[in-house]
Amino acid sequence: MNADEKAALGALETDWNSTLALLKSLVAMPTVSFAPWPKEPLFACADRIESELRALSPDLLTRLKSPEVPDDAVPVLFAHWKAPAGAKTILLYAHYDVQPPMDLSDWTTPPFEPREREGRLYGRGTADDKAGVAIHLAALKAWTKASGGLPCGVKILFEGQEEVGSVGLEKLLRANRGLLDADAVLIADCGNYDVGIPTLTTSLRGMNAVDVELRTMASPLHSGSWGGIAPDVGIMFARAIASLADDWGGLSFELPRPGEKGPERVLPTPDEALMRRQVGLPEGADFPFPADRLWRRCWDEPSLTITSLECGKVGESGNVIHNVLRSRIGLRVPFGHDVDEATRALVEALRKALPDWVELKAEPEDSAQPWATGTDHPLTRLAAGAMAEAFGRDVVFAGCGASIPLAQLFGELLPGAPVLLTGVEDPYSAPHAPDESLELSDFFSSAKAETALLGRLSS
Ligand SMILES: [Zn+2]
Repeated sequence: MNADEKAALGALETDWNSTLALLKSLVAMPTVSFAPWPKEPLFACADRIESELRALSPDLLTRLKSPEVPDDAVPVLFAHWKAPAGAKTILLYAHYDVQPPMDLSDWTTPPFEPREREGRLYGRGTADDKAGVAIHLAALKAWTKASGGLPCGVKILFEGQEEVGSVGLEKLLRANRGLLDADAVLIADCGNYDVGIPTLTTSLRGMNAVDVELRTMASPLHSGSWGGIAPDVGIMFARAIASLADDWGGLSFELPRPGEKGPERVLPTPDEALMRRQVGLPEGADFPFPADRLWRRCWDEPSLTITSLECGKVGESGNVIHNVLRSRIGLRVPFGHDVDEATRALVEALRKALPDWVELKAEPEDSAQPWATGTDHPLTRLAAGAMAEAFGRDVVFAGCGASIPLAQLFGELLPGAPVLLTGVEDPYSAPHAPDESLELSDFFSSAKAETALLGRLSS
């Protein structure tokens, strides 16, 4: 660690209370990007973050525009500090919108009133992803305060529509491709393998969802008069879908081509008891696969989920045999598969599992392709080294069963630049769920790691 890095880390620590206060003030803004939540908090939050960026004197500060994206869309903020001679440039991404809080009675404390409890900060967006915004700002401030400027080139990209599929972002990035060149991209929107374990995520599964509708008879029938001699669409769907997956979501039909192998990883030995707790398994339920396959199933294998199912409404349906069923089926596929081909295979397998005469409509959503990266790029190693020092233990290269389309897009737009996936989520963070939280010590360690990394990109 050189003297400049030490000074920047000192400034980060001295100002930590104001970073924490900034994060809390961002969490207090209900920036839910889902309709019908109001858009005003999103605009107010963008203004607030923009003023933080302006105070750090970037060479360029703008809201990305494209002829295809309306001017009054939720802002995508872009800032650029030019690299000193010989230094690298890194693009830092985070998003300032959040998921809806859902049922307020499920929260221990109100979602938009951030509260500290037992070393964690609770509130909607603490972990996903306002911590990402706060960490980027804290690292930039630390360097500005310690040495009057940044040690490397930095580009900031903050969006406010990530949770609703990054509306317009791809168009904005393609229209502004000339602004984006960087030696590395850091997406701070993922998480750590566990509390205190610094983690770089090196693979994401792709995903798609298919809305299906099954129709059998002309209309519902009296279940007493006709039960036993009329086809039951609920039972048909249950049998068909059960033939496509095991009870734990693993696929039992073949995808078009075998997955090309994802990156090799060295993982801590999975702790089965811990994973039972994280999943929330009741007494008596056991994983039907060995502990060392737990993460593999989630990261490196496809899975199926029934995300919704409608076949009459509980409490409102009479004693009828239904003739129509609707469901949304989620599909996740690992690196090496084409998610659109896999989705077609799913629909085909469902078609085959149903009698020919059952009417089946299937409408796929927009898909996200799987993504994977290696671990040996020099800048990946540099980031891993800075993280290991900040956390005081070796970095884990982990997979993630979820999907971040942006990783794939940056891979395409900036070939050769490693995409580094970091973030403060941990298995207890409950992003998208009630009582979202982050571990405050990991929030600080992550900011230290990023501050150190900027210094190490100076040559
Ligand atoms: Zn996120």
